[in-house]
Amino acid sequence: MKKLEGKIAVITGGNSGIGLATAQRFVAEGAYVFITGRRQSELDAAVRQIGKNVTGVQSDVSNLADLDRLYAAVKEQKGRIDILFANAGVGEFATLVAITEEHFDKTFGINVKGLLFTVQKALPLFQDGGSIILTASTAASKGVEGFSLYNATKAAIRSFARTWTVDLKQRKIRVNAISPGSIDTPASRLSLSGLVQSEQLSEQLKKNLMSTVPLGRIGSPDEVAKVASFLASDDSSYITGIELFVDGGSAQI
Ligand code: NAD
Repeated sequence: MKKLEGKIAVITGGNSGIGLATAQRFVAEGAYVFITGRRQSELDAAVRQIGKNVTGVQSDVSNLADLDRLYAAVKEQKGRIDILFANAGVGEFATLVAITEEHFDKTFGINVKGLLFTVQKALPLFQDGGSIILTASTAASKGVEGFSLYNATKAAIRSFARTWTVDLKQRKIRVNAISPGSIDTPASRLSLSGLVQSEQLSEQLKKNLMSTVPLGRIGSPDEVAKVASFLASDDSSYITGIELFVDGGSAQI
């Protein structure tokens, strides 16, 4: 019997990086997944890549009407949710003096407001005893320079996991956060290239970054997906409220 046999899962930001790898793994473990993303063409490509037991619903997590549309589609097709991976998130570098109101609203709008309403609006469809997994980050525990807005949104997410664990205890819904370190995804490649203009410098920056990771390398999206699958499944039946780091040890030393 597969680990997630017959489970219905929703994964926000499921068309790329960590979300896409997790959707692939959940389906391989026997689940049916709904994935979301903002761009229809990328969503369609991800649905083709996953191949079976998947529906793509174009929606922006910071738009509450889009979330209503997402859950209406889930309700119509499957009628319930067993697993929610609230994973969509964005981050752009800006030093304290450079932060603008627009930058603040976008980062908190997607990472905090979007994540909160993704979870809240899923609850009517949620099965008692289900699993909610939130994507935080090692950034919540570190002072990554020039990244204060992103770091603060991830600290808020870690806090949500604690409080929602007790808010949802009557329903036996488990809530846990995953905190990835440096994972090789389109988003992390983009932020590296945004920091430095030349290939050579980018390689140097990567080397410097790797020297801070005890395991000495960047992680793969599937290494996070494996942990999401563990937290989604009955293998983690006595785990709730935690922050599970998937960071090669970088935030542990
Ligand atoms: P990615 O860019 O490959 O994926 C991000 C996903 O989020 C995409 O599918 C994108 O469509 C979606 N998304 C962004 N804004 C959205 C919105 N408003 N509505 C709906 N979907 C939206 O990046 P990733 O690295 O796989 O990031 C996934 C999560 O992991 C994010 O929350 C990110 O902060 C977190 N994270 C990533 C790393 C890393 O090194 N890659 C480290 C720590 C945490």
